[in-house]
Amino acid sequence: MRRRMVVAANRGPYRHTRTAEGTPKVARSAGGLVTALDPVLRERGGTWVALHEPSAPTAGECNSGYDLAYVPLGPHTRRGYYHGVSNGLLWPLLHSFVPTIRDGEVPWRSYVAANAAFAEEIARQASSGDLVWVHDYHLMLVPSQVRVSVPDARIGWYCHVPWPGPDIFRTLPWRSEVIEGLLGADVLGFHTDEYAMNFLRCVDALTAHRIDFSERTVWVRERPVRAVASPIGIPTADVSALASDPRVAQAATELIEALGGRRLVLGVDRLDYTKGIPERIQAFEKLLEERPTLVDEVVFVQVMVPSRIDVRAYAQLKREVDRLVGKVNSRFARSGRVPIQYLYRNLDPLSLYAHYRAADVALVTPLRDGMNLVALEYVAARTECDGVLVLSEFAGAAHYLHHALMVNPYHCRGLRDAIVAALELGPEEQRRCMEALRLEVAELDVHAWADRFLALLEPVP
Ligand code: UDP
Repeated sequence: MRRRMVVAANRGPYRHTRTAEGTPKVARSAGGLVTALDPVLRERGGTWVALHEPSAPTAGECNSGYDLAYVPLGPHTRRGYYHGVSNGLLWPLLHSFVPTIRDGEVPWRSYVAANAAFAEEIARQASSGDLVWVHDYHLMLVPSQVRVSVPDARIGWYCHVPWPGPDIFRTLPWRSEVIEGLLGADVLGFHTDEYAMNFLRCVDALTAHRIDFSERTVWVRERPVRAVASPIGIPTADVSALASDPRVAQAATELIEALGGRRLVLGVDRLDYTKGIPERIQAFEKLLEERPTLVDEVVFVQVMVPSRIDVRAYAQLKREVDRLVGKVNSRFARSGRVPIQYLYRNLDPLSLYAHYRAADVALVTPLRDGMNLVALEYVAARTECDGVLVLSEFAGAAHYLHHALMVNPYHCRGLRDAIVAALELGPEEQRRCMEALRLEVAELDVHAWADRFLALLEPVP
């Protein structure tokens, strides 16, 4: 018999929202996690545990087919846990950046309290032998807390971000609490083997537990904890259908016509300092300095989705990108020809895929990224097997997409050279690379990811 599953994540799978006409409705949340786990939970039965939000619907209201349980937090704890520790401290640290808040102002107690509240709710929902799958850096203390109250549950945790080496991770004042928190799990999943190895090296540096590096296993007394590479992906069938949708093709044709013969270089990112957006604009600026007439041949469209705008570092980044785009456009625009078009909004799927289909080159150049789904989606959208993906070697996707044009996003000249090389790549070479990339992306299906992880979590008979 298949085991019930309890999923715990900061965000719930459904929310109250409104249609374009303003009618209230309940919608499934966007993102790979919900896409992958909603069908699994419907099939197995179980509960999704999430933070309580005003927009949270009941299971009956969204007809989810499984239970929804919410963790209520007071405003102070919630702010400290979510904005203070998760976004202000852990997000930058795990991406190998210097945290944006200082030790003295870190509301660590809120993070501990929020994790304890999640663990209590999971313990209420999980019966002995259930699979408990905890997600992401918001909930790193939860696995050991659940282990105490439901000792014979099978507990998994998945890291949706990178994991840094011990030299960086050791700067965290609460490093031991985090490591011991995670070691309450049976299986810890990471996008790449490099992140799994980094985690094991952190355990080695900070604890006395025995580690079998070749088996990727930590022994917590007699209990094995496995750190596995388990790359997330995209819903490949849905994405293929969307990419071949005639409405997408029509919108792509209109986009191309509007460019008046210029070729399209595309960037699509959430507003985040990990995404390398200023560095990309500066590389494009360098290229225009050397070849100002390129403005008649190429346009760079940067889609930037608003995100965490109430966090200081994000507001600063927005101002920086505004300034850089303004500078490049005022230096190099000619009448009717603006080198950078900058869309600061969330595109709907039809429009996003029309951009993917219209783009001759995609610049996916994060300074650090757990996986980066935009890289996968761009390839999946190129059904004609043309176009060029320029990919940062610091994206998890670079471990799987070997036929992309790899760049070091910190190297301005190298990035500029990669843009030139991408624009000059001939049709035969484009096809050869894109065909290979499409095979690589076909392996990265989000439903297969969930099945593979759960198979690892199921106890060996
Ligand atoms: N996305 C979107 N609308 C946009 C731009 C991006 O829905 O206008 C989606 C995109 O399809 C992708 C996700 O946002 O699935 C971004 O995921 P990624 O892993 O690239 O970066 P993250 O934002 O998770 O750091």
